[in-house]
Amino acid sequence: MRVRFALWLALSLAAPAAAQDDPAPLYASLRAEERARVPSQVEGDAAALPVYELALELSDDLRSFTLEETVHWTNDAGRPLSSVVLRVWANAVSPSPLVTLVSARCEGNATCEATTPSPDAIVLRLSQPVPAGGRLTVRLSLRGRLAEIDPARTTLAAQGLEGLGALSGGHGAGDYGLLAHSDGVASMASFFPVLARMRGGLWEQSDASTMGDLGNDALSHVDARVRVADGVRVVAVGLEEPPLVVGDRTEVRVRAAFVRDFALVAGRRLARRERSVGSVAVRSWFVEGREAAGARALDAAAHALALFERRFGPYPWTQLDVVEAPLVGGAGGVEFSSMVTIATMFYRPAGDAGGGPLAALLGGDLEARREAMLEMVVAHEVGHQFWHGVVGSDSREHPFQDEALAQYAAMLYVEDRYGAARAERETREQVTSGYHAMRLMGRPDGRVDRPVSAFADPLSYGGLVYGKAPHLYVALRRVLGDRAFFGALREHVAAYRFRTAPPRALYERMARGPRAARVRTLVTRWLDQTHGDADLGQADLGRLLGGGAGGDAAALRGLLDALGGGGNDAALRGLLDALGGRRGGGNDAALRGLLDALGGGGLEGLLGP
Ligand SMILES: [Zn+2]
Repeated sequence: MRVRFALWLALSLAAPAAAQDDPAPLYASLRAEERARVPSQVEGDAAALPVYELALELSDDLRSFTLEETVHWTNDAGRPLSSVVLRVWANAVSPSPLVTLVSARCEGNATCEATTPSPDAIVLRLSQPVPAGGRLTVRLSLRGRLAEIDPARTTLAAQGLEGLGALSGGHGAGDYGLLAHSDGVASMASFFPVLARMRGGLWEQSDASTMGDLGNDALSHVDARVRVADGVRVVAVGLEEPPLVVGDRTEVRVRAAFVRDFALVAGRRLARRERSVGSVAVRSWFVEGREAAGARALDAAAHALALFERRFGPYPWTQLDVVEAPLVGGAGGVEFSSMVTIATMFYRPAGDAGGGPLAALLGGDLEARREAMLEMVVAHEVGHQFWHGVVGSDSREHPFQDEALAQYAAMLYVEDRYGAARAERETREQVTSGYHAMRLMGRPDGRVDRPVSAFADPLSYGGLVYGKAPHLYVALRRVLGDRAFFGALREHVAAYRFRTAPPRALYERMARGPRAARVRTLVTRWLDQTHGDADLGQADLGRLLGGGAGGDAAALRGLLDALGGGGNDAALRGLLDALGGRRGGGNDAALRGLLDALGGGGLEGLLGP
């Protein structure tokens, strides 16, 4: 579908900064000691970062919105550009477009034309090029809706079973409920047009794959005004001001500086618990009635933040929000700058809405497992504050970079909090299991360091990036010792604060000492070569069933994916029937029966010699 708009465009070339795009007032979202130094740490000129002004009006039922958006852009490509491309990533992962461009009004008197070659791309063709360093202001009107997620889907059991069906069902990868409503909670990420990535001097208008994290990873500032019905609470990336009454509605202004994304969660029944970690307010938000999980999430986030500040360096923002959100489709949590969302499935009783068979499969301690997974997911997402938020990386070309470090951060959290033995167990059950699940399904070991688009499917992506890659850091720490290992991590964060770290820069730093050759050998072994089976062992099906799977991305899905392969209703019934046989027995024979019932390809590899 192609939609064309004629519009007027302003080229405010070399004009003095207008009041509304002066980002200094937005710096309030940074800790006092960070406000002076962060602007000097970014690549290039901090004054050239894009500023997005958003006036968002969310409907009373939290299911639709209108948005007036102004983009203040400075051409930092180093050459004149005759077009600008904006991306709406919510549309890239949704089966049908959620966000629609209504009009684009540009200031001044030059003409330009906007086209939407795909639902997730807005191309502005300028009647005259914007010179290097020149500025452009674009005003957009949009309307949108939130995908509706059935609350029955947001339990651990339901998500686990869904993962099983997804194997053959053709679920679009990346459809995580980023822009969705469920049970009175609106979760809004990737909902507004942002500047596209630029590669080799060209705007990227489409993505080779929608697995993993979409987004441009670039820094920007956001100044948002969010209007909601009275009584609706708004939690967002950045610093929220106290709500103002505007007519019969409430307006919350949000200021966010030096962020790589902007998102918010809104709802009438959001409860809050808060704790200070130094000068950072750590806030846990959850649906009323889920206090135990909300308190656990707060506890995990506060502990993780304190630990990561010791290990990696200072956290820059005044707030860290950990927010329950109706994430589905394999996502356990999603990271944003100064905010993380954590899937509702980790807050609700695991067997809610009919999870009996899965509870039987997992041996009855699903609740304990859910709590352990919640902590690890929270720690992973808080880890992303440093590995993505502070230290930037290219999440499309080198997705292992931030994901493996966030996974490793979660492993450090468990070790610091509960000791080495439990860390080893959780690593096996929540990290390594992703690799084992991948192998059980007959997917080969492979290179870790490659673009998202070069992974065959979510199983391979999860297995290699989340399951295998974090073990590189276990190996490096063993060779370097704690002092050199953590010293290098801290130096690396300091060197690349609010910049984009080259994918191997950390290892070059670790290789400066006497163990350079061993460091390089390990990096090659884990990132480029295929020794996973030798290094991580063969999958043990009983053990895999005894544990969860998949940390951030897949949680139980990895485990169920390992069982899948068939995935139609009949196979599912076979699985559930077979589970009845396993309940008291606990040997692998019943399991073999159910795997046969599923009859998927790849399982031969598991059961064969
Ligand atoms: Zn992650």
